[in-house]
Amino acid sequence: MIRCGECRCVADDADEGWLTYLIAEDGEEPDFIPYFLSYCPSCSFREFGVIPRTAYT
Ligand SMILES: [Zn+2]
Repeated sequence: MIRCGECRCVADDADEGWLTYLIAEDGEEPDFIPYFLSYCPSCSFREFGVIPRTAYT
């Protein structure tokens, strides 16, 4: 299951349109723990202005 970091919607699979980022650092937080942040298709579009391609297989 995957949860959108923006709107909190969930999906069973990160199928087409989902984006997942590894948030690896925060310049102001020395004890920052890297984490994954996912965006559903609609949030991906709103945040980044693109419809993600899915051709990564
Ligand atoms: Zn979303």
